[in-house]
Amino acid sequence: MVGLNDETLFRQANLIGGEWRDVGNGPAVMVTNPATRSVLGTVPDSGGAETRAAIIAAEAALQEWKARTHADRAKLLEQWHTLIAANAEDLARILTLEQGKPLAEARGEIAYGNAFVKWFAEEARRIGGTIIPSPAQGARILVTKEPVGVCAIITPWNFPNAMITRKVAPALAAGCTVVIKPSEFTPFSAIALTVLAERAGIPAGVINVVTGMPTDIGAEMTSNPVVRKLSFTGSTRVGSILMRNCADSIKRLSLELGGNAPFIIFDDADLDLAVEGVLVSKFRNGGQTCVCANRILVQSKVYEKFADKLAKRVVSLKVGDGTADGTMIGPMINEAAVEKIQRHVADAIDKGATVITADHPRPSGSQYVSPVVLRDAKTDMLLAQEETFGPVAPLFRFETEAEAIAIANGTPFGLAAYFYTRDLARSFRVNEALEFGMVGLNTGLISTEVAPFGGVKQSGLGREGSQLGIEEYLEIKALHIGGL
Ligand code: ADP
Repeated sequence: MVGLNDETLFRQANLIGGEWRDVGNGPAVMVTNPATRSVLGTVPDSGGAETRAAIIAAEAALQEWKARTHADRAKLLEQWHTLIAANAEDLARILTLEQGKPLAEARGEIAYGNAFVKWFAEEARRIGGTIIPSPAQGARILVTKEPVGVCAIITPWNFPNAMITRKVAPALAAGCTVVIKPSEFTPFSAIALTVLAERAGIPAGVINVVTGMPTDIGAEMTSNPVVRKLSFTGSTRVGSILMRNCADSIKRLSLELGGNAPFIIFDDADLDLAVEGVLVSKFRNGGQTCVCANRILVQSKVYEKFADKLAKRVVSLKVGDGTADGTMIGPMINEAAVEKIQRHVADAIDKGATVITADHPRPSGSQYVSPVVLRDAKTDMLLAQEETFGPVAPLFRFETEAEAIAIANGTPFGLAAYFYTRDLARSFRVNEALEFGMVGLNTGLISTEVAPFGGVKQSGLGREGSQLGIEEYLEIKALHIGGL
């Protein structure tokens, strides 16, 4: 019992071919609430055998699912969308309990995640093709699109709900079947979504879920030739292992990996707008998103003023249990995350940075950290080179536009970047110079189902959302017809 209106949404089991399989006598993974560190529940620690069974179930469901009309699949997705909306409050609570983010943000994630279900229900109807005039007499060429087949889906803990729908909705709309491996830290959001999918009438085997520690599940997903595609969101380190392991069977890949987002404030920027932009981009989910501003670059002339304005606003961010009223920064996901944040801040101070925000009042639990603003950050500090994934805002000083661009691009990552200016020519110039898949100009918010999401360089392959998102789950076939 976790305090839901509908407790049946909280299941501690795998779903394989329409059959729920709980831990039984097998190995289990304990899931803890990061706010209290108490055990929320347990799920099966699945291995290769369960993963194989799920892949076989997905393969068995594929032919019937892909033979349905687009309109039929769209209708089922719409029913799923309606049920997610009707159960949004329970889904948000499950999310906060297993992940820690403030309830208001969890509600936002459910709405954002559900927007993908609606969007791809609509896109299902628009999977068309083309007719190419043939160079030969009495011939035609028809280009059609077909589902890729069985897809493996591996998702992270920072968006346990939306990362599932952003992948599963286009896969199902295209006519694919899926096997999901949610993060071992946050399996319950994925399971609850699957309960609702089943209730919506999505047939057995179309969505399968295997929970547990990643290595054995990942090994089966990447080596099994039945799996035609892997869609992964997570770290660049793991993404590169998965890519290598998929090489032998040449699987299609979508990889949404790490970032190291620059957030550039030019001296002609609207500073108040920029402060608000940093707050949403840096401190959402306690700084634990791959598009979070990681390096805040401020032009010399406005550096002091901006630092002062930002520090004043950061002081007001309330730290606490995500289920408590008014919480803006919840606990970090685990102790390793806290350790990394502390290591980055200590290294920065060691190399000359200064914390300009006072320590925040916060609950005594070991997973709470105080949001901080650091001034005099430098590119040789750890926090400039890796994602801190925490509520740490380091301010770097720059003099010229060229210097800002060089610092911004000086990373192997290329997911999101942000910049603030009121100069039209500079807006185009800087946008074109930034080596990133997504750019926010005078905004800190870039996530929406209608726009392509994804990165360049070591931030990944492919795009999710938008009209492009469904293409990731479609193959192209050219039919050459002669003798007409
Ligand atoms: P994060 O930094 O978000 O924790 P990870 O890349 O470690 O990123 O994890 C993202 C997802 O990848 C999780 O579901 C995790 O269980 C999974 N994962 C981690 N290692 C592997 C692996 N070797 N094979 C398959 N999945 C993995």
